[in-house]
Amino acid sequence: MRVNAYAAPAAGEPLTPTTIERRDVGPNDVLIAIQYAGICHSDIHTVNGDWGPQPFPVVPGHEIVGVVAEVGADVTKYQAGDRVGVGCMVNSCGECAHCRGGDEQYCINGAVLTYAGADRDGTTTQGGYSTHVVVDADYVLSVPDSLDAAAAAPLLCAGITTYAPLRRWGAGPGKKVAVVGLGGLGHIAVKIAHAMGAEVTVLSQSLKKQDDGLRLGADHYHATSDPDTFTQLAGRFDLIVNTVSADIDTNAYLGLLALDGAMVNVGIAPGPLSVGGILLGSPRRILTGSMFGGIALTQEMLDFCAEHGIGAEVEVISADRVNEAYERVLASDVRYRFVIDTGTIA
Ligand code: NAP
Ligand code: ZN
Repeated sequence: MRVNAYAAPAAGEPLTPTTIERRDVGPNDVLIAIQYAGICHSDIHTVNGDWGPQPFPVVPGHEIVGVVAEVGADVTKYQAGDRVGVGCMVNSCGECAHCRGGDEQYCINGAVLTYAGADRDGTTTQGGYSTHVVVDADYVLSVPDSLDAAAAAPLLCAGITTYAPLRRWGAGPGKKVAVVGLGGLGHIAVKIAHAMGAEVTVLSQSLKKQDDGLRLGADHYHATSDPDTFTQLAGRFDLIVNTVSADIDTNAYLGLLALDGAMVNVGIAPGPLSVGGILLGSPRRILTGSMFGGIALTQEMLDFCAEHGIGAEVEVISADRVNEAYERVLASDVRYRFVIDTGTIA
């Protein structure tokens, strides 16, 4: 079927309305009528070519919430009318050790990303800035009814991307967690870490968003532009979740980790990391990264968010404002996630 969408025609070009082809609904597929699509900074990195050449035109969008319109003959998990979501991937081999272990995002044969990905039928995937999408049922998530649809959309990427390291590194009572950057990922990380019972500190460039940070669940808030922050908090944290989209001084943040503390980069900054060996080793510290999350963990995250009443703080926009929203995200002027009402895509 031919559906309406917004696409970037080439690297760095503004997005424009277009139409794209969606495949026929196969036996294990779900046709989703999309309601909302979040704008992730990864969409902007991709469109701007920060991550290298892309198969343009690209329809971004991997924070998708909608309603099932049709299911294939073999689909038993979903039926028409169900509220569902799609995140950063739409397929993987399902057979390798990583897939079998629930880490489909690290599929040894390559997970199929939701947009600009090489699909298994040889076509290029196109994302959620569109009216409909066809996805294999195994990669479709159930979005609990208690969650507002627009506020739930960002959970499909920002939610799982922060939930995964918080779970993996044991955020909970007695643990001191720092979240670096209070943007789309950061503000959800604060909500989730707080709900897990951790003591949460926001490290933001300035104190401009301090009231919001404390309201979202942070116990402490510091400006990284103030050098005192780094002396005052030295050796403090069990876990640092770095959500910043730009290069930061990794060594300065490593100095904030306690013995065996971990700094997890989920932000994908352009530059290579330069890390001091003594700083990393004394006291013993961990520097690692993390990519969104597997399907079972994503469902666990959605259920956790429903249980704790966690959704994103969203600014819902019509599709014709997408380029303006990109500019505002790049200027750190987002509170805290833009979400496209895909009903406005004409
Ligand atoms: P975002 O909404 O733009 O938030 C990023 C935040 O980083 C900003 O709000 C700002 O927070 C801080 N920041 C921006 N520029 C900075 C600079 N030059 N120095 C210090 N801090 C700066 O972006 P997002 O959607 O949350 O995404 C964040 C990053 O995560 C992106 O790189 C994205 O590609 C990546 N990502 C990765 C995954 C994954 O699977 N690993 C998934 C999704 C996204 P303050 O104003 O509070 O300082
Ligand atoms: Zn994303």
